Amino acid sequence: MISGKTKLLGIIGNPIEHSFSPFLHNDLALQTNTDVIYVPFKAAGDMQKVTDGLRTLSVKGVNVTVPYKSKIMSYLDEVTEMASFIGAVNTVKNENGKLIGYNTDYVGFYQSLKRNQVEIEGKKVLVAGAGGAARAVVFALVKYGAGEITIANRTISKANSLKEEVFKKTGKHIGVIEFSNALNGAYDIIINTTTLGMHPDVNAAVFPKFEEFDRYDAFIDLVYNPLDTASIKIAKSKEKKTINGIDMLFYQGISAFEIWNDIKISDEAMSRAYENFKDKVYK
Ligand code: NAP
Repeated sequence: MISGKTKLLGIIGNPIEHSFSPFLHNDLALQTNTDVIYVPFKAAGDMQKVTDGLRTLSVKGVNVTVPYKSKIMSYLDEVTEMASFIGAVNTVKNENGKLIGYNTDYVGFYQSLKRNQVEIEGKKVLVAGAGGAARAVVFALVKYGAGEITIANRTISKANSLKEEVFKKTGKHIGVIEFSNALNGAYDIIINTTTLGMHPDVNAAVFPKFEEFDRYDAFIDLVYNPLDTASIKIAKSKEKKTINGIDMLFYQGISAFEIWNDIKISDEAMSRAYENFKDKVYK
């Protein structure tokens, strides 16, 4: 029940209508008996006004989504080392007027691999894309010990700058290849971090001629709208292991909720929230 003590959480983005996060976090509030409510904020773009608003209205925390994940960073009082590493903030916590930026996308990505029993240590991984999601994925791959990482991006200069940044920040050498040549190698895991296949362009596969390519074991698509992307369908038809973007979305949300509320969600509450989230998303 909402009362004078209820704390406000939300998500800032534009567009925001499609977001599953309000469902997830309001359910987590119920499952964990936490006195919070979570609402969508369709933001007009001025991050100074947005962050002033969060402080003025004592909003306890927000998620940040497209197109503000990088833009909001310079308006925060502090950014965690990992978020600054990744160059994007998807979670902001308001600590008595001090806004602290976190990145929980990389946690969500790693947890989704764990849930689906995909081992990355020592593995040969091809990452399609060099945008915000790719940065979280690549830093998680480095952190958790992937062997050989190669990035393919339509705009090759962006892939090269990510490669240089990763080397500077972690000492890890990663490869870059032309988007059109990406499928010449052999990989343990291919990860789509591009928007290819996302609604409304649902027939687009991650790489040209992806359907002819067979030299990989598992395919992970960060896109979750639709759940079965054109690329996932192709990988399934080749009997590869596949993971869609829903588990990553769930676990980045879990991590954010724990940060805002200073709690550790129990396994039981998490299982119930996971089932409810899947029911909501898959119905
Ligand atoms: P972004 O920063 O805008 O990056 C978009 C990426 O897609 C860039 O690498 C871009 O290449 C590439 N791209 C776009 N159109 C393309 C095309 N026609 N051909 C080839 N490449 C193309 O977006 P983002 O924030 O990284 O998000 C990317 C996707 O990940 C979205 O679908 C988002 O929903 C999903 N995502 C999912 C989760 C989750 O929890 N499951 C979390 C974060 C993001 P250029 O550099 O050449 O433009």
